Amino acid sequence: MKLRVLGCDGGRGLGYNSTCLLFNDQVLIDAGTIQSQLTLDEALKITDIFFTHSHLDHLVDLPFLFDATFEARKQPLRLHGSQHTIDALMKHIFNDTIWPNFSVLPKEGKGQFTTHVIKAGETYKAGGVELTPIEVDHTVPTVGFKIEDENGSIVFSGDTGPVDSIWEVANEAENLEAVIVDLSFPVSEQGIANLSKHMTASDVEKELKKLEKDCDVYAFHYKVGMASTLEGQTKRLKHFGKEIKSLRNYKELIL
Ligand SMILES: [Zn+2]
Ligand SMILES: [Zn+2]
Repeated sequence: MKLRVLGCDGGRGLGYNSTCLLFNDQVLIDAGTIQSQLTLDEALKITDIFFTHSHLDHLVDLPFLFDATFEARKQPLRLHGSQHTIDALMKHIFNDTIWPNFSVLPKEGKGQFTTHVIKAGETYKAGGVELTPIEVDHTVPTVGFKIEDENGSIVFSGDTGPVDSIWEVANEAENLEAVIVDLSFPVSEQGIANLSKHMTASDVEKELKKLEKDCDVYAFHYKVGMASTLEGQTKRLKHFGKEIKSLRNYKELIL
């Protein structure tokens, strides 16, 4: 599978793009950074977006996407998320106050998007990959994903504090190529990481002891302004003797 990293930071700012992973040019996990990284033609190739959770940094570009592709869109975009995430999108974003309800525009039955509720542990196919949501531990209901095709699989933690579920799935995954794990705050801000249910490098160091397989490990979700500190703390971590990498240094991965 081809993974384009459109954004993988924990916020937006100069040089920081929030979470948005594009698989095989067609399937997105989260919608934190779309238009600033894709042409309109590329954006129109996206058929499905799978959301990890309802936080703004993971969906902020979605309203603008519908604005930009309104005229040109032939098929509605499929939005997949937990009931909590779908309800949040409809109640708080596409509510005709913050932004138009594009699910019924230009007209009822011919909207810009449809919504689809996903459940942890079930597997969904789109764009040549299979996605299995994994329940994780964040301040709102959140899932990570196992993403796989015939060549291998990767596990993406989504936003989470320490949790067993992603490691259990990773340990059982076939041909595990990589794990992408939350590393949001410097170790000096462990208290904030705990409160916001994210991780520091010392959390990730402990978590990696649960991963029995040798694979690449990438850190994501650096908070704005902290990239250089966090890159230093990330690099000191090892898994099977290999350095943990910072996902923001990779534009494209073939897995
Ligand atoms: Zn986030
Ligand atoms: Zn979050």
